[in-house]
Amino acid sequence: MASGRVDLDGNPIKPITICMIGAGGFIGSHLCEKLLAETPHKVLAVDVYGDKIKHLLEPSGSGSLPWSDRIQFHRLNIKNDPRLEGLIKMADLIINLAAICTPADYNTRPLDTIYSNFIDALPVVKYCSENSKRLIHFSTCEIYGKTIGCFLPKDSPLRQDPAYFVLKEDDSPCIFGPIEKQRWSYACAKQLIERLIYAEGAENGLEFTIVRPFNWIGPRMDFIPGIDGPSEGVPRVLACFSNNLLRREPLKLVDGGQSQRTFVYIKDAIEAVLLMIENPARANGQIFNVGNPNNEVTVRQLAEMMTQVYSKVSAEPPLDTPTIDVSSKEFYGEGYDDSDKRIPDMTIINRQLGWNPKTSLWDLLESTLTYQHRTYAEAIKKAISKPVAN
Ligand code: NAD
Ligand code: UDP
Repeated sequence: MASGRVDLDGNPIKPITICMIGAGGFIGSHLCEKLLAETPHKVLAVDVYGDKIKHLLEPSGSGSLPWSDRIQFHRLNIKNDPRLEGLIKMADLIINLAAICTPADYNTRPLDTIYSNFIDALPVVKYCSENSKRLIHFSTCEIYGKTIGCFLPKDSPLRQDPAYFVLKEDDSPCIFGPIEKQRWSYACAKQLIERLIYAEGAENGLEFTIVRPFNWIGPRMDFIPGIDGPSEGVPRVLACFSNNLLRREPLKLVDGGQSQRTFVYIKDAIEAVLLMIENPARANGQIFNVGNPNNEVTVRQLAEMMTQVYSKVSAEPPLDTPTIDVSSKEFYGEGYDDSDKRIPDMTIINRQLGWNPKTSLWDLLESTLTYQHRTYAEAIKKAISKPVAN
């Protein structure tokens, strides 16, 4: 497995200990899997929640997993737990994934969102800086906000010019809406923590890498309301649409589903993170867009494609009316706003790490919806058939 592995410059890769905060989430679970299966590194997995990495942790005393001595789970809340500094001191590299990062929370729980994405990340940055530990911090593509192009007249030919919409780490501005549009509380908190990390690098020599994920999707993303998450919860779009498909309900298109997104398969994106982990000389001091510019669709097109793919993997015919329109106010409440278009510029990650995404949108939806169907279809059937208590 591990011996003889070399970095992009041909140097042998030494085993390290990684303190991964937020390891129990969607991205964390895939990164843990990758590190344990394909590298010699050790993981100190920190989270308040561990269900998504349960399969990687040793059932007590069984001795059955090949990596059992390379992962420890520490159930703790980084908001208020004094064990955090000790864990950071034990590690060579800290990866911070912990965040509130579902849009339904940004306008309805703006304080929690700002605390989680800025205040709670402060001690992590401080302990890394004080103890000279390398930090890979997860930010977001949402930091770019809206594109310059969306402010041009609808019929302006400049709207077709990539200079007005492609998002570049070292060039594009961050354009958010007014304060009363609380959607931007998340992006703004992430922007400030990015600036703080950058400043720690400039003034105190912190070795850092900032990752800006562009809609990473795949198995284990979020939850299915009423099955493994709250019935009234609103996850991100992949899980919302999966839930609708599983329940044979129309998919809800917010404000006409006209916003555009580029989706990247989680397994492709994890390859990029592994390159960052194992090539510090190429990754330190960098901010990386990680996305798939070739997989752009409107949300409406995503809904149509997911309907088609789900019909194929479940062998159930699509509904006669597969989508319905809802207003953002009805769906998310007051203060919602949206990013119009998100195409990542790939120059920096290409130059530094030679990384490119591989998986087409159709293929990634096929494997993800196969997983959703296999994991949830039975549970949904049971939930639907239960008599409602009165
Ligand atoms: P996720 O919600 O699945 O994972 C976050 C994890 O952090 C959860 O398991 C949660 O329990 C944990 N966590 C939150 N607060 C904590 C605390 N105080 N103490 C301990 N653990 C805590 O989200 P994800 O999709 O895996 O995203 C990970 C990171 O990537 C986040 O910082 C997010 O902002 C960023 N990101 C992800 C995407 C994407 O496409 N998935 C896009 C943009 C940004
Ligand atoms: N969306 C939608 N229906 C849903 C859930 C989301 O139309 O059931 C839209 C949402 O308004 C946004 C896009 O899908 O335009 C992507 O939403 P997501 O929650 O995945 O997060 P974002 O990409 O905005 O960070």
